[in-house]
Amino acid sequence: MRLILLGPPGAGKGTQAQRLVAKHKIVQLSTGDMLRAAVAAGTPVGLRAKSIMDAGQLVPDDVVVAIIADRIGQADAKNGFVLDGFPRTVPQAEALDNLLAGRGLKLDAVIELKVDEGILVKRIETRVAEMTARGEPLRKDDNPEVLKGRLAAYRTQTAPLAGYYDAKGMLKGVDGMAPIDDVTVAIDRILAARPAGKKTIKKAAAARKPAKSKPAKAKPAKAKAKGKAATSKAAAKAEKKAAKKAAKAAKKAAKKAEAARKAAKKAARKLAEKAAKKAKKAKTGGKGRSAKGKPGRAKTKARRRLTKAS
Ligand code: AMP
Repeated sequence: MRLILLGPPGAGKGTQAQRLVAKHKIVQLSTGDMLRAAVAAGTPVGLRAKSIMDAGQLVPDDVVVAIIADRIGQADAKNGFVLDGFPRTVPQAEALDNLLAGRGLKLDAVIELKVDEGILVKRIETRVAEMTARGEPLRKDDNPEVLKGRLAAYRTQTAPLAGYYDAKGMLKGVDGMAPIDDVTVAIDRILAARPAGKKTIKKAAAARKPAKSKPAKAKPAKAKAKGKAATSKAAAKAEKKAAKKAAKAAKKAAKKAEAARKAAKKAARKLAEKAAKKAKKAKTGGKGRSAKGKPGRAKTKARRRLTKAS
């Protein structure tokens, strides 16, 4: 089973993901947890991500896509996974599609935990106040202002994902403000109501196939092995191609973000220069004279007058 839990920070994705892990014997892949581990270990990715995470912003797409590409290929993810906190942008979702397609895999469901942002902010305010009163340590991103920033990032960058998956007919919504157990029940219902699981469909197709086709001729062992090798070679090739495509898409998105960042920086610099010019003008009385006194043209005129007189 391969699932995505969508929802803003504080919606309860982590809690529900843990329950799904226990129930379906799958792994929870949380990019937030993986990034925090990288920060704690001081890896190059961690060093790159730390300040971005502390500010409640999103780590570049290429970084998280690379992490997920590596993680879903590991043995423990073979039985399935629940993605918590990934994807967070449309380019990440596209990269995920390519990664899965390259492995011949598909998502089973995308479940959105719908919440009231105002209540989430109030909740964190209460929690921070209680923890502070108890003298407990707080995480750097555990404060209402950072949460507000993360909610804003969610609204602009992640919320469009709901439309992305809805257009594919995969999105299911759940009331994330309901008690935790009720949310779990709602998710279980969605998963149970899925049109007969992909595995079942595959099994049924496999069962139907031999009846339709001619009785299989016993293939010589060598030919069988050759066929198998060719299939796995083709799969490896397709996987490589998909990974390349995903990396390219992520790189493109990163480039776009970098260009936007540069444009914003340029605009800010221009604004600052304009403001400085204005301030200088105001200081010199707005006459436009040089600080040294008369402009050069006046000096030339005076010199001409002197030459005429002599
Ligand atoms: P989380 O624990 O999922 O709320 O993630 C904590 C922080 O890690 C986020 O505020 C981001 O800075 C970063 N992060 C986690 N997942 C992603 C992702 N898929 N894309 C970009 N940044 C992420």
